[in-house]
Amino acid sequence: MSMTPRQRAIERIAQRRFQRAERRESVPEIFGSNVFSFPVMRSYLPANVWTSIERIINGEAHFDESIADAVAEAMKTWAIERGATHYAHVFFPLTGLTAEKHDSFYDPVANGASIARFNGSALIQGESDASSFPSGGIRQTFEARGYTAWDVSSPAYLYDSVDGATLCIPTAFISWTGDALDQKTPVLRSGQALDLHARRLLQIFGHKEIDRIQAFCGPEQEYFLIDRNFYYLRPDLMHTGRALFGAPPPKGQEFGDHYFGAIPDRVLAYMAEVEYELFKLGVPAKTRHNEVAPSQYEIAPLFESANIATDHQALTMMVLKRVARKHGFVCLVHEKPFSGVNGSGKHLNWSFGNTAQGNLLAPTDTPQRNAQFLVFCAAVIRAVSRWGRLLSAMVASAGNDHRLGGNEAPPAILSVFLGKPLTDIFEHIGADDSDERSLKDKLRIGVDVLADLSKDAGDRNRTSPFAFVGNRFEFRSVGANQSIAGPITMLNTIVAESLAYCADRLDEADVSTPQKLDAAVQELIRDIYHEHKGILFDGDGYSNAWRQEAARRGIPNPHSTPDVIHALNDPEVASLLSRYRVLSKRELRSRYEISMELYIKRIHVEVKTSLKIAKTSILPAAQKYIERLAKNKTALATLQIEGAHQDGCPWESTATQFSGHVRDLLHAIHALEKASDDAPQGVHDETVYYYRDALLPAMNKLRACADAIECMIDDELWPLPTFHEMLFMK
Ligand code: ADP
Ligand code: MG
Repeated sequence: MSMTPRQRAIERIAQRRFQRAERRESVPEIFGSNVFSFPVMRSYLPANVWTSIERIINGEAHFDESIADAVAEAMKTWAIERGATHYAHVFFPLTGLTAEKHDSFYDPVANGASIARFNGSALIQGESDASSFPSGGIRQTFEARGYTAWDVSSPAYLYDSVDGATLCIPTAFISWTGDALDQKTPVLRSGQALDLHARRLLQIFGHKEIDRIQAFCGPEQEYFLIDRNFYYLRPDLMHTGRALFGAPPPKGQEFGDHYFGAIPDRVLAYMAEVEYELFKLGVPAKTRHNEVAPSQYEIAPLFESANIATDHQALTMMVLKRVARKHGFVCLVHEKPFSGVNGSGKHLNWSFGNTAQGNLLAPTDTPQRNAQFLVFCAAVIRAVSRWGRLLSAMVASAGNDHRLGGNEAPPAILSVFLGKPLTDIFEHIGADDSDERSLKDKLRIGVDVLADLSKDAGDRNRTSPFAFVGNRFEFRSVGANQSIAGPITMLNTIVAESLAYCADRLDEADVSTPQKLDAAVQELIRDIYHEHKGILFDGDGYSNAWRQEAARRGIPNPHSTPDVIHALNDPEVASLLSRYRVLSKRELRSRYEISMELYIKRIHVEVKTSLKIAKTSILPAAQKYIERLAKNKTALATLQIEGAHQDGCPWESTATQFSGHVRDLLHAIHALEKASDDAPQGVHDETVYYYRDALLPAMNKLRACADAIECMIDDELWPLPTFHEMLFMK
């Protein structure tokens, strides 16, 4: 008998020859070699132009036409010297993907010759047709044109691919009317808000020379690697990024033997090449290891400024996917590709500060600085307590819904973990006591404890969605497939609002002497603690007791995207974001609509893919098996095995059970088809809830029937690579 596609895939994988990575240059030799970094730019630019660029980088001036031509010329020369033929504006549309539009440097001229053209206007405004990118209403009412403008703070780079190198220019994407159509613009704007209000506080604490305050981020990316031969036999993975069918493997992650285990050679070769490509692009990839689930891995860079980290994170995802292809893998960054094993997240480590004043979320051993640290830390607690729903809305998606709230990823209840030492300090300062002297002592005591804390990051709580980890907060609810731009934007903004509150409070108080400042600071921290201590939780986030306690404290436990995206339609949120000049009401509205639209579209594609696979692959296979069972029954009867032709023999019951599953499958297909036909149209609340409450359950039902069939059917007939094959064979 000829091999089935599944068997062929397995054979190909078994015969795969492992290729040792070719010898490569050392890291210092290649790091950033494809980046038009500031030092490189400087060496290619006239001195006066470079001076202007420096002022722009420091936020003292705007990029404009007077220098654009010179910069474009330098970029072009550098890129063409390195073999580039095209340039591309790279931007992050609201779909959450990365978009690029390639143009050639060369224009054909007479006599079959061509000349290289790339000038300042191409750099500032590479016009691009915005109409095919979602803009959530902005596009309908206004012109379809969008402009891409280089983000000077993020260097251009060369991307090597099969067709030579392309000069990539990180850009903001803005509509004709000035609305941000991308994710980068709000990151930049929110950074300004954070800078402004962090400075105000620092001034109150007596700092004089204050450089720009920036947010810093280190995103840890989890992903799955599966062999490409299997991928092509799974339309669900190809179209939706997750397996819509598949019974759990006999052995999953219960032994915990994958986490930090030895990385298989084939995967190691892949990782090494990913890192090599990232190093050329100046992405400081740092750690790599196995994750909890079989075939799950993680890559994390060294932290960088939020804006660069956002660009580098998107690049990392792109490189992970492209290099996988070369190694015969597919890299899956869906939040839950395989039900029953761990999902993938993207932990966002976040802090803020600058070189002169240091990391403002790091405790030190100087008392004065630690009072300041406590205020910054309290401001973050207050921000999450007041605006947690906005953070939840930013990480909500059809994919992440499968992960949050499962017993593996952080719970959907957004609480803050501080660790025991820091909690004790806040508790101590917060204890009711109006005597000014003892208040002052309390701060002192807290500050002494902090000196120890600065040496030891304290314990870790892996079940918390938002945890203080020694010198930064780690937001763990972000999904593997999501851009970090949204969460960074909102974190920056809500913390800026909190810092403004603290600065306002201290401005009103008498802080004319260090003692008075101390007293005002203690009062401020005490008030914040009293008002917001409900958000603090150090225990087991998965426990039932916590769910009940959270409900008592009034912290939401949202189960799905429709429960949380309303925050983007909340007037209070709209007013916050417009006050801090991060998103206008219209820009926010567009994001709300796009969140709903994406939720609907993703599930819509899943439903269509489920039906297609069930009808054209699973059902025919099941029918074949029924035929086979019937034939075998006759065969057995002719063999005259005792009882084989009687009702109720084990043979009979297998056949009955199996045909029962097939009948259920038929019903489930029919029910899902009907539910899909009846679905309301348009991007409305009604549609979103219908998708969650009618379509998802109908799809899950269909899956349950198919998975039951998979567990009984002759393995030879089963059309889809199984979880066992995909997760364990490479
Ligand atoms: P984990 O124990 O969570 O795996 P890692 O040491 O791998 O921690 O660090 C996770 C990420 O946090 C890395 O990207 C790291 O660079 C980043 N990180 C470290 N310090 C800071 C900081 N001050 N601000 C932001 N990110 C940071
Ligand atoms: Mg971490």
